[in-house]
Formats: sequence, structure tokens, C-alpha cells
Amino acid sequence: MFEKILIANRGEIALRIQRACRELGIKTVVVHSEADRDAKYVKLADESVCIGPAPSAQSYLNIPAIISAAEVTDAQAIHPGYGFLSENADFAERVETSGFVFIGPRAETIRLMGDKVSAKDAMKATGVPCVPGSEGALPDDPKEIVAIARQIGYPVIIKAAGGGGGRGMRVVHTEAALVNAVQMTRQEAQTAFGNPTVYMEKFLENPRHVEIQVLADQFKNAIYLGERDCSMQRRHQKVIEEAPAPHIPARLIARIGERCADACRKIGYRGAGTFEFLYENGEFYFIEMNTRVQVEHPVTEAITGVDIVQEQIRVAFGEKLRLKQRDVEFRGHAIECRINAEDPFTFVPSPGKIEFYHPPGGPGIRVDSHIYQGYKVPSHYDSMVAKVIAYGDTREQAIRRMRIALSEMTIQGIKTNIPLHQELMLDARFVEGGTSIHYLEHKLAAKNEVKQ
Ligand code: ADP
Repeated sequence: MFEKILIANRGEIALRIQRACRELGIKTVVVHSEADRDAKYVKLADESVCIGPAPSAQSYLNIPAIISAAEVTDAQAIHPGYGFLSENADFAERVETSGFVFIGPRAETIRLMGDKVSAKDAMKATGVPCVPGSEGALPDDPKEIVAIARQIGYPVIIKAAGGGGGRGMRVVHTEAALVNAVQMTRQEAQTAFGNPTVYMEKFLENPRHVEIQVLADQFKNAIYLGERDCSMQRRHQKVIEEAPAPHIPARLIARIGERCADACRKIGYRGAGTFEFLYENGEFYFIEMNTRVQVEHPVTEAITGVDIVQEQIRVAFGEKLRLKQRDVEFRGHAIECRINAEDPFTFVPSPGKIEFYHPPGGPGIRVDSHIYQGYKVPSHYDSMVAKVIAYGDTREQAIRRMRIALSEMTIQGIKTNIPLHQELMLDARFVEGGTSIHYLEHKLAAKNEVKQ
């Protein structure tokens, strides 16, 4: 096994990766910005290296600084976590050409999946069902664009090939608005992602977001670890995730899961990954693949008993997958609430010093967090400060346990979205299960109207 791994990330995921390494007997190097110097997880690592000032562009995205940190500490591999450089093919390539192992897929796979047009083409070729849409990128000729939209049928959505984080998308309801919308999305895509390529899809009106977790080794063995439902979103950002997805027949999951594992074998995928789908009227439609560990991986760990981060490390070292599909069993139900440092109703970020902290506990509760009393939440990064995961034999039990956990959890000194989660855990439609990706936005909008 590796002797030493460098963790190129921060916050809860840096701690999560560190724990996996320690359990495997691997030494850890954590790189950090000046803003994260005093964080406890930095002190807990075997070694730490400051790679630059607080802004991510000068630290967590600073490729030369991270490579030098690996060189001076003699690390053998680099774990990128999620966000930051985790889906940057150039970084993966630099890591490998500098003589380190990148804990993730090959650079060419990241590149293929990083462009949504090429990702969709690759998935279609392997038999993964996609949202109906344009064959590849949209042409320049307005007449052709109009013809494509007529064939798909309105409403359609124009999406940037290089888009991410819920940006670079525009819904079009009528032909009159089409050509202008394509032009605007192209311009935005050029500015935001440096790539003006756009494509068109049918806009699904009421889908759920259901994703499949996969694990693969370099010997073309691949399995799926079931699904997660991440439909509770605000501005295309996930707020609550759960596994399994309520009310979807197991045979449908098995069928799409097999397709994903098969796609992994066909493209020579290596490591952990997630196929994201929209799910509507019993059908799955691929939208994109994430070639890294995801924030919501613990709900899958809870129902399968598989440590996804440890498996990532093992297959990166060159081991064969230890599990076959028939070894994977799904038991119980798990729900994750993302606890953010923000106002629960205006969503304005709330960085600052945590004056008092009391984490929840008890049967079935897992808290993944790097915070503690006296910790200062920096203003430079994502506002997520903790993940609370509740597991139960049934979904009802998981919800009950989550309600208790949220009522115990105390974070003072900053604002958090705990009150929003408490409200959602009591929401009749959430409790029923199976709400669409628009549910939370509509609920929040309705609440605002009542206030005004
Ligand atoms: P990003 O990489 O920016 O997250 P995705 O392609 O994953 O972009 O889409 C993000 C979200 O946008 C989806 O979870 C869904 O809410 C919405 N979306 C994307 N494509 C469609 C579509 N064809 N129909 C309806 N909603 C869509």
C-alpha cells in the first residue's frame, strides 16, 4: 500500500480522506492556505505544507505549489477530494508526469467527461440513456437550430459544453426566443468557461435528480453501489441527499446500475465516479458524470457498508476491486443534511468564529465536519461546515433520527441553515418522498410571497 498520501483539499473532506488513510496505515500530508493554518485537521495530519494565501486561485488551485509540496514531503499519491482541482484533467496529468499517482481516473477520462457534449456522445455509444437533444454541439446556422428545436419539441434547454456548478444553462419555451437565447448562452459560456460550445436538450418539466455511484479498477472490473436521490436543490445546489431513492422499483435501479458499470468497463474507467441522471415517469436520462468522490458519498456508505474513500485509494494503488456486484447488499436508509454557514432563509453566507459547538450523536448518526468551538469559518471558501448523516432500518426511522440530531446540534456565533433542515424534515411532501428538483425552490418562493 502507499506509505504517504498528500491531500489537496480542505475542510471536512480533507479530514475524511485523512481518516481513511490512517485506517489504512498511510501517512498523510495536508496542504493548506494561510487562512486554514490553524485548523485542527491540519494539526492532526502527519505533515502539513502551506501552499499560499487565502484565495483559492493562489493556494488550493495552485498546481505548481501542490506538486512541490508532494516533492518535498516524498508523498507517493495525491487525493484531490471534490471541487478545486478534482476534475481538472491538466492537474491529473501533471501529477502523473511528476511521478505521483493521481487518486482518480486517468486524465483522458476526466477530459472526456469534463466536456458535456463528448461525455454525452460517449455515454450514448455505451448504451446509457440520455436526455433527447441535439446530436453533439449546436451549429451556427439559425435555421438549423430552429429545425433541431422543432424536432425535440419545446420547452428546450440550451447548455454550455464546458458548464458546471449549475451555470451556463437557459430554458427556452418558444421559437421566437430561441436564436437569441442560444447566442446569449454562447457568450456567457465563452466568458465563464472559455468555451462557446453549446448544445440543446429537451427540458424535462418535473424530474428528480437520481445518481448512480460506481467503483472501478484498472482491470476493467466495475460495480455500482446503488443510487442516491439529490432532488432537494436550491439554485442547482444539493441541500439534502438520500439513499436509496424513494419509490423507485429495485429492478429499474439494477438495470440502470448495470448500464453504468458496463459503461465504466467500456471506457476503461478507474476509481469512484457518479453518473447523474434526471428521472421522470420511470425513465432515466443521463446528464453528466462526476469523476471524483462526492459530498454525498456517506449515504451510500451507510447503506452498503463500503468505505468509498478507502476503495478509491486501493484501486489507485493498483489493487483489484475486492467486491463483486453480488457482494454488494443494500440495507436500510440514509439521509444527509448539508449544514452551511449561512442565513437559513436569505442564504447570505455567515462566516466567523464558532463560539459554541455541540455536535449530535446517538444510534445511526454520523457527523462529518472539521469545525470545533473557537474555529473561525473563513469567508474565502464554500459555506458548508458539516454534514449530518442519519441512518435507520427504514426511511421513517432515518427521518426521526435526523430530527433528533438537528434538535441536539448547536452551533453558535455564526448562522447556519439548521432551521431550514428542521423545517424540511417535517415537510409533508418530503416525508412522503420523491419530490422533484423544483420542489424546494417552489416552497421557498411560496414562503416569500406569504411574508410580503
Ligand atoms: P452542472 O454541471 O452545472 O451541475 P447539470 O447538467 O448537472 O449541470 O445540470 C444541473 C441541474 O440543471 C440538474 O440537476 C437539473 O436540475 C437541471 N437540468 C439540467 N438539464 C436539464 C434538462 N434537460 N431538463 C430539466 N432540468 C435540467
